[in-house]
Amino acid sequence: MPVKIGVLALQGAVDRHARALAAAGAEPLAVRTAAALADVDALVLPGGESTTMSMLLESSGLFEAVAERLATGMPALGTCAGMILLGREIIGGRADQRSFGVLDISVRRNAFGRQRDSFETDLAVIGLGPDDGSTLRAVFIRAPVVERVGPDVEVLASVDGDPVLVRQGAVLAAAFHPELGDDLRIHQTFVRSSAERSA
Ligand code: GLN
Repeated sequence: MPVKIGVLALQGAVDRHARALAAAGAEPLAVRTAAALADVDALVLPGGESTTMSMLLESSGLFEAVAERLATGMPALGTCAGMILLGREIIGGRADQRSFGVLDISVRRNAFGRQRDSFETDLAVIGLGPDDGSTLRAVFIRAPVVERVGPDVEVLASVDGDPVLVRQGAVLAAAFHPELGDDLRIHQTFVRSSAERSA
């Protein structure tokens, strides 16, 4: 039985994540309700706009449901806006913007600056299995900058000293968009660790 991985589908880059998860051997499911969330082993929080997602999480009643699952160890992968939603402290957010706080980072929205608003780069990545040390092509779109990482957070890749791929226990987060492009290692790593944790 493939591991069931939800993609939070309130807003943002849902389809490409679903495709990448399927290619990595998982069964992807769109999550828009607490009932759908109850059926998955793990959750992807995609890129998009974290302010909009925060509002929709609250109006749909999903915020508390996701927070409860995260509190009991549900694996999560957050990308870009999804990373912001998982972080403990948001800098430059809307005053009413909420986050789950399960990843001990301080993260500043839209912080790579105008010149580097959107860019691609080759990242040296650790912690993604047998290809460790090889580079990963990463697409950044109005990406957040991680300004602080707590002691329990592993930094798996950085750009100019700024962490862009981090992990804390079952929570993995990227400032970029691993669902764009054809390097599946981040999804494969997440699918594999989610399957191990749900076994
Ligand atoms: N700038 C967006 C935010 O603050 C994130 C951009 C993205 O997810 N590509 O939510």
